[in-house]
Amino acid sequence: MPETPEPTLRDRIAEALNNARHTHPCPVTSSTYWTGCYHPDGTSIACHTSRRTDAVLAVLPAPVDRAAVLREAANALALVGPPTLASGPQAWTEAIETLRRMADEASR
Ligand SMILES: [Zn+2]
Repeated sequence: MPETPEPTLRDRIAEALNNARHTHPCPVTSSTYWTGCYHPDGTSIACHTSRRTDAVLAVLPAPVDRAAVLREAANALALVGPPTLASGPQAWTEAIETLRRMADEASR
């Protein structure tokens, strides 16, 4: 049996939007029918958009902390050690391989 592919971010956003009307009842009217929610003060469009926005934000990946990523890469390179006259080109290759391995591990 073929393996089911992982849902893409687009797939997850589409599913969140499809399910938003079930998972985000209106805080003003408690309506679970989000496209037909009419507020007495006329803010139904904002309500509709707000609930869709909350549904999308809930499935977005956490923002990347670039500083933490760069610190982790620097720490990994420090473990490889400084190049010597004899190991110069090899140390450079090991540093590149270390960063690529870290990138591969992070993408899993
Ligand atoms: Zn509403």
